Amino acid sequence: MSGPKIHILDPETVNRIAAGEVVERPASVAKELVENAIDAGARRVLVDVTTDAKEITRIRVTDDGEGMTPEEAVLAFAPHATSKIRDIADIHAIRTLGFRGEALASIAAVSRVTLITRPKGAGALAGTRVVVCGGEVVEQREVGSPEGTTVVVEELFHNTPARRKFLKSRNTELAHLYGAVEALALAHGEIAFRVVHNGRERFSTQRSADLLGAIAALYGTDLARQLIPIEGRLPFLRIAGFVSRPAESRSGPAQVAISINGRSVASRQIVSAVREGYGTLLPKDRYPVAFISLDIDTNLVDVNVHPTKREVRLSREREVLAAVAAAVEDALAARDLSRKAPPEPAQQQIAERVPEADRIASPEPPYAARHRDLAASDRRLRRTETAPAAAGPNLLPPMEPIGQVAATYIVAKGADGDLFLVDQHAAHERILYEQIVERRDSAVRSQELLMPVIVSLRPAESRIVREAIPLLADDGFVVEEFGRDTYAVRAVPVILGQLEDPQAVRDTIDGLLAEEFRTASDRKEWVTCTIACRGAVRAGVVLTQEQMRRMIEQLAKTKTPWTCPHGRPTVVQFPKEKIERMFGRG
Ligand code: ADP
Ligand code: MG
Repeated sequence: MSGPKIHILDPETVNRIAAGEVVERPASVAKELVENAIDAGARRVLVDVTTDAKEITRIRVTDDGEGMTPEEAVLAFAPHATSKIRDIADIHAIRTLGFRGEALASIAAVSRVTLITRPKGAGALAGTRVVVCGGEVVEQREVGSPEGTTVVVEELFHNTPARRKFLKSRNTELAHLYGAVEALALAHGEIAFRVVHNGRERFSTQRSADLLGAIAALYGTDLARQLIPIEGRLPFLRIAGFVSRPAESRSGPAQVAISINGRSVASRQIVSAVREGYGTLLPKDRYPVAFISLDIDTNLVDVNVHPTKREVRLSREREVLAAVAAAVEDALAARDLSRKAPPEPAQQQIAERVPEADRIASPEPPYAARHRDLAASDRRLRRTETAPAAAGPNLLPPMEPIGQVAATYIVAKGADGDLFLVDQHAAHERILYEQIVERRDSAVRSQELLMPVIVSLRPAESRIVREAIPLLADDGFVVEEFGRDTYAVRAVPVILGQLEDPQAVRDTIDGLLAEEFRTASDRKEWVTCTIACRGAVRAGVVLTQEQMRRMIEQLAKTKTPWTCPHGRPTVVQFPKEKIERMFGRG
């Protein structure tokens, strides 16, 4: 005999399911704990992470906030236990980051949590220690404790092996964790944050620093110094923040940080609005660095749409987006960026804190730019010229360039009346790619730079780069740790000759950070493709007849001339018969 097939899940199962939504990875734990510290009115927050060789073993968050009484300390772990709202109406006026009362219950369902807390100014002589493991309270007693709260999370996902399996490498998880704390630190300049890993400080911010101060602390004064302040206002909205000059761009949106009422959020719409503000100043595939802080009437923000509250819904979204785009546009226009670049408020503000002023190159007139393009293409092509003896057989039909369309495709005629279109960038990418792969194992593959290029990174990026140093070395980048989160690029692949542009290293790093690689060889492949792409003659650049001829010659000598390393075509062939058919002659 059997009972009804529908039954109510037991609370433990419910909590583990909820944990699946809230606690995706170690970074989510850090985020929830830091948010609780912020909600508790903390002035200082310490995040202390411990790792062994393989993974994050412990996350400890300490705050000097309001603390909890013994009763509250136990209640805090109950599902749907919150001090922040009483009913649904309160959500519309929410000013705290938490309100669902799920985080502690969820975290404790999938780990071992130790909470030590003492309420502030309540005259309590001792604090409370509560240990919860897999959702069960296993210990509760009085202990000595400073005012405020410490939460220690260990053995994360010990009872959810499936979730554990999805964790990425230790350093990737650390990078996510730093990213989560960074985002909160940016949105809360009124709090001093310190992040420590295995006893070493990774980054810290000062209390009551303004946004620019927090940016400088997290990302370095070099970046902060060149930012442009933006502002905007509607009756229900206040926009503040900073955006980069168009030249300081990134290959992805990772460095567009958005906060709404102190909550760090992801919003593709707001990212698009920021880019819209740049108009044509930003190439199609590039993203600015931007720190956008929005204060919106809480009635217009629905924060209850996502379990981790990473996304919010806005009423009057169109007006908000238009205002953001306008604020960015106005700020850039006021700097007259397309013509000249006078000193700016952001620079002055930061210059007061950091000596030495920014140097800004003034844009060149178009004819100079054109000459520079031609010279650059020539250098790029010369680098891939191989000695005739070493050259392999020609794998393309013979063809003779006639001209170029859209400054991107080479038009060539074949011996038998065929017509060819060659994508100049894709073709050169293929040439470079094969040469890089070929030379990987040979002795001379990198060239020492006269002056090493120094790259300052965010702590999150720094971990990834440290991990990638041997892979970069395989491809000829000699990178050394130079100081904390600072690296010296001492040599570059010989194929690139000279690193004209430190952006190449930056982009490679950005990409390493943005992509999630399954295997080391995937990552290596990606680095090779990126280097080939960076070093290749660009689309949209006018080539001389001679340059076109050299390009085709080099392409014909490659092993796989018809596609680029990404698998897209390099050459498209229109056989004579097809052309004849098109004109009704066939
Ligand atoms: P929420 O933040 O959504 O209310 P949580 O599960 O994160 O839910 O926390 C439950 C409750 O525990 C909070 O509402 C708060 O009252 C209390 N709490 C949690 N962390 C702290 C802290 N660091 N300091 C003081 N109180 C805390
Ligand atoms: Mg919370």
